[in-house]
This record gives sequence, C-alpha cells and structure tokens, in this order.
Amino acid sequence: MKINTAEFIISNSDVSKCPLERLPEYAFIGRSNVGKSSLINMLTNHKNLAKTSGKPGKTQLINHFKINSNWFLVDLPGYGYARVSKKTKEVFQEFITDYFEQREQLVCAFVLIDIRLEAQKIDLEFIEYLGETEVPFCIIFTKADKISKGKVAAHIAAYRKELLANNWEEMPQHFVTSSTEGTGKEELLEFIDGVNQD
Ligand code: GDP
Repeated sequence: MKINTAEFIISNSDVSKCPLERLPEYAFIGRSNVGKSSLINMLTNHKNLAKTSGKPGKTQLINHFKINSNWFLVDLPGYGYARVSKKTKEVFQEFITDYFEQREQLVCAFVLIDIRLEAQKIDLEFIEYLGETEVPFCIIFTKADKISKGKVAAHIAAYRKELLANNWEEMPQHFVTSSTEGTGKEELLEFIDGVNQD
C-alpha cells in the first residue's frame, strides 16, 4: 500500500467524540520518546504530521488521521517515564482505557518498543492489559538503526523470552522499524492493507 493522502481530522480526550465514520482504525502507542511521532511521519511521508516530542501540543490527546480516505491512523499519548510503574489503569488517563475498551472500529493497536532497551515493566503491564481487554495488537520495535542486525535479533529473542515468562504462549506479531532509514515501512503498510482487505 502507498499512502497518498494523510489528513488530520480531530484531537480529543473523549472517545465519544472520535469520528463517527466507521473506518478501520489502527492505534499507535508507546512510552514517551520511543519514536512514535517519527514513525508516523515516516509511514505517511510527512515531515510533521505527528508532532515529535520536542514540540508541545497535541501529544496528550487521541489524534485521528484519515489515510487514503479508507482507514484511520490514531496517534495516542505517550506513556510515563516512571521507572516504578503503577497499574495500567492508574498510569493511563481514563480516556485512553475508554478508547481501548469502547472503540469498536479499533482493528489493531501497535505497541512501540525501543529495540535497544531491556523489557520495561510499564510496557509489559500495558501488553498484559491489552491481552486482558482482548485488543488485537502487534509490537513495533523502533530505532533499529541504533544497534547492529545481530543485536536486533538477540533483543527480539530476549523480548520473546520475557513475554513467555509473563504467560504469553507465543511472541505476538512484530515489526522492526527505523524511521531514519525507512526500515519496516513496507511491511507495516502491507500488514495494514492485508487486514483492511479481509
Ligand atoms: P515520541 O515521543 O515517541 O513521539 O518520539 P519521537 O518521534 O519524538 O522521537 C524521540 C527521539 O528519538 C527523537 O530525537 C527522534 O529523532 C529519535 N528517533 C525516533 N525514531 C528514530 C529512529 O528510528 N532512529 C533514530 N536513530 N532515532 C530516532
């Protein structure tokens, strides 16, 4: 799939005010600074569609972008820097959990994980929350250009081990991306296209 048009529609903190149009929706979420804005800009061929963290603004809201007039890319707020995380319900503002629990159009959540880091408690808790809430999700490992290919494979294997230790039966579908090099763009867009065709 090629993205021809990416149009900002609305930002809000109330799931009932999200667009009424029933298009399939793909949400992007992760810890602050994980590279979410850079990834969204890379996927949509925009320099500044999603605001990168240096720029204050709409980063604490649910942001809907309409892609090619047939699906929504949803940019969700980045979550805590806190090293000692609280339970997901406490970490996330209620409108975020409302979004995951109520938004029927949500087809898949993409959980962004910095490929360089060891598994973080807050991410594991969030992934567990998605499992409990039965939200389909994939993992996107970001910033792959920052480590060698061998380390990428080793870090993914370590992440898998961590998830299995946390009672996951298998490694969820995952993608490896680099926003600076364009890595993973085609795979991600093909995946979304495939789901949209089903
Ligand atoms: P956000 O807070 O999750 O939206 O993160 P940003 O997209 O603002 O990125 C945070 C920082 O990481 C910025 O300095 C980006 O330039 C940098 N960054 C993001 N993605 C990549 C990547 O794929 N490769 C490299 N080398 N740097 C990245």
